[in-house]
Amino acid sequence: MNIIFFGPPGAGKGTQSGIIQAEHGVAHLSTGDMLRAAVAAGTDVGRTAKALMDEGKLVPDDIIIKIVADRIETPDCAAGFILDGFPRTLPQAQALDHMLADKGRKLDAVLQLRVPDEILIGRIEKRVRESGRARADDKPETLKRRLGVYHEQTAPVLPYYEQAGLLHVIDGNRPIDDVTAAIRAALV
Ligand code: AMP
Repeated sequence: MNIIFFGPPGAGKGTQSGIIQAEHGVAHLSTGDMLRAAVAAGTDVGRTAKALMDEGKLVPDDIIIKIVADRIETPDCAAGFILDGFPRTLPQAQALDHMLADKGRKLDAVLQLRVPDEILIGRIEKRVRESGRARADDKPETLKRRLGVYHEQTAPVLPYYEQAGLLHVIDGNRPIDDVTAAIRAALV
């Protein structure tokens, strides 16, 4: 099973990916987590990515496409994978199609978690208050930039998957269990 979780920051992609990953025994590939690991490790990619991430901007397509291409070659992806935070641009979506076609694999579903912006802002403010430690990109002005980037650069990828008949729109503005139930229903 190869699926994509699609949605703005704070929509619940990471939470739902973890639940579905455990149920299906597939790999969970979060490009945000991979980039944060590269930043922590101080690699060249991490150095390039850090400033962009802190400002809420996207990391260049060629960098992120290479990271994903390498990652899906690893053995734990053989049974399938959940992409969380990738693709975020049309060139990334097209590159993913090429990668999969080269391996004779395909996507099974794209799950769009839809949550209104004002709810997302409230959720992330709550996460910051409750955890007591904010990520640099959780600052209010950065979060607004990330939402703007989502609407301008990432949401336009949705018609690509709609045309391919892969898109499932899930109302993400509900209790977590209800969202999970809707995702399970979309995956049968
Ligand atoms: P996330 O944790 O998925 O919200 O990602 C955190 C940050 O990493 C984003 O705001 C971007 O700066 C960067 N990033 C993650 N995934 C991608 C991607 N597919 N394309 C470009 N930048 C990305």
